[in-house]
Amino acid sequence: MNAPVRNIRQLESYIAGQWVRGAGKAVPLLDAATGEPVALIDASGIDLKAALSFGRETGNPALRKMSFHERALMLKALGQALMEAKEEFYALSTATGATRTDSWIDIEGGIGTLLSYASKGRRELPNTRTLVDGDVELLSRDNTFSGQHILTPLEGVAIHINAFNFPCWGMLEKLAPTLLAGMPAIVKPASQTAYLTELMVRRIIDLDILPKGALQLVSGSVGDLLDHVDCQDVVTFTGSAATGRKLKAHPTIVENSVRFTMEADSLNAAILGPDAVAGTEEFDLFVKEVAREMTAKAGQKCTAIRRVIAPRSGVEALIRALDERLAKTPLGNPGEEGIKMGPLASLAQRDEVRARIKDLQGDAEIVAGDPDKPNVTSGDAEAGAFLSPVLLYCDRPDGARAVHDVEAFGPVSTIIPYETAEEAAALARRGKGSLVASVFTNDPKFARDTVHALGPWHGRVMIGNRASAKSSTGHGSPLPVLVHGGPGRAGGGEELGGMRSVKHYMQRTAVQAAPWLLSEITGRWMHGARAKHDTMHPFRKSLAELEIGDQLVTDTRTVTLEDIEHFANFTGDTFYAHMDEKAAKANPFFEGRVAHGYLIVSFAAGLFVDPAPGPVLANYGVDSLRFLTPVNPGDTLQVTLTAKQINPRETESYGEVRWDCTVTNQETQVVAQYDVLTMVAKTWPQQA
Ligand code: NDP
Repeated sequence: MNAPVRNIRQLESYIAGQWVRGAGKAVPLLDAATGEPVALIDASGIDLKAALSFGRETGNPALRKMSFHERALMLKALGQALMEAKEEFYALSTATGATRTDSWIDIEGGIGTLLSYASKGRRELPNTRTLVDGDVELLSRDNTFSGQHILTPLEGVAIHINAFNFPCWGMLEKLAPTLLAGMPAIVKPASQTAYLTELMVRRIIDLDILPKGALQLVSGSVGDLLDHVDCQDVVTFTGSAATGRKLKAHPTIVENSVRFTMEADSLNAAILGPDAVAGTEEFDLFVKEVAREMTAKAGQKCTAIRRVIAPRSGVEALIRALDERLAKTPLGNPGEEGIKMGPLASLAQRDEVRARIKDLQGDAEIVAGDPDKPNVTSGDAEAGAFLSPVLLYCDRPDGARAVHDVEAFGPVSTIIPYETAEEAAALARRGKGSLVASVFTNDPKFARDTVHALGPWHGRVMIGNRASAKSSTGHGSPLPVLVHGGPGRAGGGEELGGMRSVKHYMQRTAVQAAPWLLSEITGRWMHGARAKHDTMHPFRKSLAELEIGDQLVTDTRTVTLEDIEHFANFTGDTFYAHMDEKAAKANPFFEGRVAHGYLIVSFAAGLFVDPAPGPVLANYGVDSLRFLTPVNPGDTLQVTLTAKQINPRETESYGEVRWDCTVTNQETQVVAQYDVLTMVAKTWPQQA
């Protein structure tokens, strides 16, 4: 390789608030399609121990000082600004071998993930710094000692070691939950495509939206970084199983019980149902999906379909259909119009994939594509890392090893025949744990049985059929709201999944204390905690005046038989338990006719509401509604309403207030228990 390297820009690392270069001999990174140098890379001699300290001492305190909503708004601002700058990323992304569509997954998919966390963070997390996890656990009969799980951000740094195939998405899908949790990150992209990550990090730093120390970048090798991690740090890894295993067993990681999340190669399967014969919509969808997964990112996706499991009787039709479809995918220079598939990331990667195809040929024969003769529409087939899609067929999958063991990380899939539904699932499981499997069927029994059999071995299962043909997000797309990861060979880790992944960067702690103290600690009122009564109805208080624990004990109201009958006839709910004394008595739960649960809730509102216009703007629902004791005619109800949680919105003139609502009868038995959810103005009268 005699590529000219003199005028090529050297990538820099962003460490402790400075852009720095390595002190060693930089290595050129080549354009995947042309073989020309794109950048130089080297991180040798950079003080990475100092990077960790900077993250812990500067980035971490700055982030943990912010609330979840402040951090979510920070992600929103970042996502919006990056989206505006996206064309710059697209322009450079071509050098990685990505077509415009491939780049869209990486660039806009990554920024979209950031924006998804920004939005879900504000909708699903409170505007606090501590997260309450689950319900209060009563630990004493007299309610003077209780337990509550809470989550607080770890005090260290998250080190994200990423793969070459998604230089933007790979960084952003991990960065979003990390920053939202309140932890800083050091990102280490794979060298091969690090120039695109470096460009995006430069733009992020230039935007000056993140606090100092929240994001650092290592362009090049991580050197001794992992020697310095401790139990407050997190290490995540995406890449080959071999490297992942090595890092997971790193002595410092083992000794300090450092959280380690691994996402490694995975032999994902797609199963064609027995009902999905040629001519059905499911068969056509399956062909489309397999071909798409083989060619998108030139098959360099951790979720790509490596094993195509199909009924033996349908194999011939399937090979024909796939061959036809793959032949219609022009391979060439990804920057050019009409090109549907680009090269692999590097010539070394092509050599690697060709070697793995040879391994697969031990069990299977090639039925479409020639690994040694790329059929290019444009570009230089020798200088660029081009490889035509290669489809193999393994006739005897039972005795085969390579098709279930070897990952060719490129446009390569193997068709594997099955005879029975059980065998189809058993073959998929021979991947020893995968990120995703898809099942194409319109048969509910096959779908149910197969999902049940695949579940323990997969992080995600997608069912493809005619009903979701237009709306399906596809086999290969990890989504911010669903978990991404898988057991066994897939690494055993879990990423994304909405707010689940935010908790990976926090410590769960069970706190035990008297309820009033627990309430002070969590910012959430609970039964047994102190309540405050004053002459002002709590519905007359704006967020500026309302406090956790503000409580209203209402007047009483006696429920009559006429009330029950009126409610029944008015609403149409004439269920026998409310209308038929004899039938109600025969019911094991009741001693006679009872009031409707919704009548109790309605009477409760009538008791606690303050009717005049005021700071309570809207009631948007109730949570955890339970009817605990039957209400018979003649029973007298009373409500205790307590401000349980106050959640001011950062950018609005109002916030959410959660009220504990306890309805009791004349014997102080709780008849109904629930949370009332309201929107309350920050000030009243509201400022224009
Ligand atoms: P590697 O496992 O070699 O590299 C993944 C990441 O780990 C890169 O950032 C790499 O940095 C880094 N790394 C490598 N060695 C070390 C080390 N000793 N200490 C710390 N970090 C290290 O995978 P590749 O990217 O080379 O891909 C190889 C194969 O992995 C593919 O052919 C494919 O089979 C699989 N793969 C699976 C992916 C998935 O998502 N499941 C994604 C990508 C690859 P650097 O690049 O600087 O060496």
